[in-house]
Amino acid sequence: LGAPLYADLAGDIDISFEFFPPKTEAMEATLWSSIETLEPLQPRFVSVTYGAGGSTRERTHNTVARLVRETSLTPAAHLTCVDASRDEIDEVARDYWAAGVRHIVALRGDPSVPGQPFSARADGYASAAELVAGLRKVGDFDISVAAYPEAHPEAASLATDIDHLKRKLDAGSHRAITQFFFEPDTFFRFRDAAVAAGVTAEIVPGILPVSNFAQTLKMATMCKTAIPGWMERLFVGLEDKPAARQLVAATVAAELCRRLYAGGVRQFHFYTLNRAELAYAICHLLGVRPQAGNLQEKAA
Ligand code: FAD
Repeated sequence: LGAPLYADLAGDIDISFEFFPPKTEAMEATLWSSIETLEPLQPRFVSVTYGAGGSTRERTHNTVARLVRETSLTPAAHLTCVDASRDEIDEVARDYWAAGVRHIVALRGDPSVPGQPFSARADGYASAAELVAGLRKVGDFDISVAAYPEAHPEAASLATDIDHLKRKLDAGSHRAITQFFFEPDTFFRFRDAAVAAGVTAEIVPGILPVSNFAQTLKMATMCKTAIPGWMERLFVGLEDKPAARQLVAATVAAELCRRLYAGGVRQFHFYTLNRAELAYAICHLLGVRPQAGNLQEKAA
């Protein structure tokens, strides 16, 4: 691919980070220390996930509201419409608008009982496309939606999934953030197919640094993301070596980003799992540096 050397990456990359709302005080402390570490990198936005079936509604809202109050960051609140009425969802969205939140990651979500097939409520939004249309009526939100380079597990085919992605974008969303994947070609094939189907919005790759291989395997199995054989082999023997695993994780993720960069990608979304160090190291390799001046200006 002729991917550039790290030293030649020009700092023309936009990043965003994803966090999940903490459950305990200890997890809360980890999250806010990570946010403090990553804030100077001035991401375009930081997003906060929403637990299955709205189970973290309060915690997501509190985390997002604190980001608005206490940081210079632009928060994006994930919002799922499964297991809720349209009125309930619209109320959550109005609360976000009132709290100053202007970016929503709009998702259908998975049913709260794992493995149960999705069925739309009569008074609910039936898909993320309907949710996007509903959100547009509540406020002039910046809206991101999900995309699946290896197709959503429920999709009949990649082509129907891409048609659905186009419906979500046509309903008024602004960009797609992808499920994690591990081979650059997986992303490029998907991007080419989406463009051929008429998608013009930006498709931002979701990057998951793999520091815990067993946990990643579990997540990948659930969302039907392929784990390449080479990756499995790389982590063999590192089970009891957390520091070495971190170094390997940073290398693998940075290599993926470097090759995506060579294929024209300039936006990256990092699944941080609320830890700063890996994301920080990968961003540093990609030429992203702290923007102290900006922060001081905002604080003033
Ligand atoms: P949709 O876009 O509505 O699609 C779901 C499935 O239905 C797809 O297979 C689609 O092709 C199909 N479909 C829908 N309508 C049609 C139609 N008219 N015709 C044919 N097929 C159709 N989950 C959470 O619970 N909380 C989160 O915070 C969260 N954040 C996420 C962030 C990202 C970046 C990603 C990629 C996923 C996230 N998820 C989250 C997971 C997501 O909720 C699940 O993948 C869920 O099963 C689908 O949500 P969706 O918005 O993609 O659904």
